[in-house]
Amino acid sequence: MNNDSERIVFNIPVDISAEEFAPYCRIKKDSAAFEMLEDVMPLIQKHGAPKAIIKWASVDRINDDETTIDGITFTSKVVADKLKETQRVFLSVVTAGEGLERSGEFDGDPFLDTYNGALLFHASRYIVRYMKDVFGFDGSSMLNPGSLPDWPIKNNFALFDIIGGVDEIGVSLNDAGYIKPWNSGSHIHFPGDGYHKCSLCRKYDCIGRRAPFNREEYIRIFGTEP
Ligand code: SF4
Repeated sequence: MNNDSERIVFNIPVDISAEEFAPYCRIKKDSAAFEMLEDVMPLIQKHGAPKAIIKWASVDRINDDETTIDGITFTSKVVADKLKETQRVFLSVVTAGEGLERSGEFDGDPFLDTYNGALLFHASRYIVRYMKDVFGFDGSSMLNPGSLPDWPIKNNFALFDIIGGVDEIGVSLNDAGYIKPWNSGSHIHFPGDGYHKCSLCRKYDCIGRRAPFNREEYIRIFGTEP
């Protein structure tokens, strides 16, 4: 870990058992897939290399749907609504890394993307726990660019500018603003209201949904029927 007081860089340990890792992969413990996971878990622990950067930032000003963070203005109704009570946030960029691919041990493994998605989830939980343990900051509510049409992926350019030096953990943006490698994410962490992006997402039948759609909240924030 490298800490320059405002910006902290993590190499995140994969000190996690197959039992803990299975739900991140959406694998049930009484399944054949779990037996496969138990077999491969030592390789995931050995070669998995998730990384993250977190950085404190100030919410300078909110005006209608504009939110200025560390001097950079974002236009988004949901960001303005969620940060209206907040003066300080953590920004983060998190990645599963490419440790599994580079090891060569997972060549042709159809579950490679599943394992990397689970490593990303593990890494995200790790930094949220770190914010709580070290700073007493509840960063479990997160806004990430690209999660809603109101907060499109191109906002990653400005977010990465504020965080700075993201190449230190091996991530970059393509021309559209998507993060490479694929199993990576960027967030504004704010205290409090248990917000989850799925609660405002209109992909009603998404199999990855982690929170029910909240129609009343959608209408309150966007002023329109979903
Ligand atoms: S419902 Fe699905 S598509 Fe929508 S934000 Fe959640 S995971 Fe993403």
